[in-house]
Amino acid sequence: MTHIEVCPVGGWGEVGRNMTAVKVDDSVIIFDMGLHMPNYIKLTDAAIGEFSRHTEQSLKRAEAIPQDGIIKEWRSKVKAIVVTHAHLDHIGAVPYMASKYDCPIICSPFSAAILKTIMRDEKIIIPNKIIALKPGQSMPLSNELKLEFCHITHSTPQTIIACLHTPKGVVMYANDYKLDLHPTLGKPANLDRLKKLGQQGVFALIQDCLYAAEQRKTPSEQVAKDMLREVLLEVDNKGKGLIVTTFASHIARLKSIADCGRLLKRRVVFMGRSVAKYCFAAKDAGIIDLSKDAKILKYSRQTRHMLSEIQRRGKDKYLMVVSGHQGEPQSTLSKMLDGVYQWNFGSNDHVVFSSTIIPADINREQRAVMDAKLKKFGVRIFNDIHVSGHSSREDLRDMLEMVKPVHVLPTHGEDSMMNAFNALALEVGYKDGVSLHPLKNGERLVLK
Ligand SMILES: [Zn+2]
Repeated sequence: MTHIEVCPVGGWGEVGRNMTAVKVDDSVIIFDMGLHMPNYIKLTDAAIGEFSRHTEQSLKRAEAIPQDGIIKEWRSKVKAIVVTHAHLDHIGAVPYMASKYDCPIICSPFSAAILKTIMRDEKIIIPNKIIALKPGQSMPLSNELKLEFCHITHSTPQTIIACLHTPKGVVMYANDYKLDLHPTLGKPANLDRLKKLGQQGVFALIQDCLYAAEQRKTPSEQVAKDMLREVLLEVDNKGKGLIVTTFASHIARLKSIADCGRLLKRRVVFMGRSVAKYCFAAKDAGIIDLSKDAKILKYSRQTRHMLSEIQRRGKDKYLMVVSGHQGEPQSTLSKMLDGVYQWNFGSNDHVVFSSTIIPADINREQRAVMDAKLKKFGVRIFNDIHVSGHSSREDLRDMLEMVKPVHVLPTHGEDSMMNAFNALALEVGYKDGVSLHPLKNGERLVLK
């Protein structure tokens, strides 16, 4: 009789540092190995998306990475570290923690490119083999286990739902995704495959609950594209500077912004280390070559030079994309405001936040500081030109009905988010402690 046990390591009862271990008989599979971004930033004082060198011990003390000591006795049984997507709260702890596991890291080509870039930039070497598995592909992990990457949509490319085929059925690890049938880059969410897996038998669904309290279906990325077109193409911007800030890892959004630049007949410039890293990874992974649409500047001396060139030639000849949507003090936008880069802000500048404030105190505080500076200069601010990459309550209901898991385990969320998901699961017919299993980091559960 196959024995399946789940150990939540990170992200259960909190937002970030995702990591879950699933033991099937004598094999353990680890899903995700991420950073807790607010704790990581507090420690490193780095901008979001940036990386700096720390030891595993110092990161653990700061609660910035998962406390994997709790699966110490499973260590020799780990067969693979599976990463669902390239966001740092899912992949960012790999360089610090993976080397103590004698197994490969399996992730999409895009995630693999990001991982390699981070390690090259930070001069971190790990012995683990990195296996790039494309969305839609499968590979065996042992005689009884097979890993399948089901294509899904999110706010960064090649996000997958990890499906572990076991003799008892599929263990599905679905952490960060939305059910977008009209994405602006890449294929729609593969609902047919999810339904098929549901018919074949899903034994357990490990599901994120970040937006479980949102009483809606998350709108398509197409809606964000329309919102961008409205503020960039339809608001009068003659003679104005156009500055957009968005998530560096959101390649589809960057493409939508670049498309607006083309329609405006403005030269598109992406500035910053982080945005360059994700753009080049997208090219390496064969997703899209954004250097055809935009000039990509990685280094600060290039940015400094470009900003003075833009002011000399005329702000209205360019569309700029910069870092700084969370008000990070080290971001390009902050440096422009603080005089580190020369930029004459005024009422002839439009700043578009194609983002939302990630709900953490540090972000709210930093954005308030940034907004006050922008307002002092009389800049026009366009906030929340954004839709989320996460499933809301009604997507989660559809998911439960499509895959019909025997067991449901809510992950990735604070208590209020977990409770919202639990309420939905009970409504759908799951029974607390029988088929619905709210767990916290460090607990264990044998699935019957
Ligand atoms: Zn994500």
